[in-house]
Amino acid sequence: MDHHEVEVAAAAAEAVQPVDPAEIARGLAVVRKRRWCLWTVLIVYLPTMYVTQKITHSFNGSMPVFFIWFAVLLGVMFYSATARCPRCRNYYHMHGMMLLYLRKCLHCQLPISGDKSDKY
Ligand SMILES: [Zn+2]
Repeated sequence: MDHHEVEVAAAAAEAVQPVDPAEIARGLAVVRKRRWCLWTVLIVYLPTMYVTQKITHSFNGSMPVFFIWFAVLLGVMFYSATARCPRCRNYYHMHGMMLLYLRKCLHCQLPISGDKSDKY
């Protein structure tokens, strides 16, 4: 680490409150769990609609199932969007009106697997 890097690291450490690694790990686990909920609901869509079409044999008949799924999707989107970054305390996936599911915090760039030494 050269002199410049040390300065940058010091500035970054000043900008955010000191949080202990256990707290970061706990916070990231919550963020990961909520992301996982969202992906699950998204993936469940295809088999659910497939089965619904098989049972009802009509588009109109499967509409209620679609709306239920959509309501659940909105719920988990809200649930995942309000997950807070354990380091900077901002919304991990939301910056203003922008909702982005990156693998890092939109505010302080804390990686989603930042509490683990080996990245997957
Ligand atoms: Zn952050």
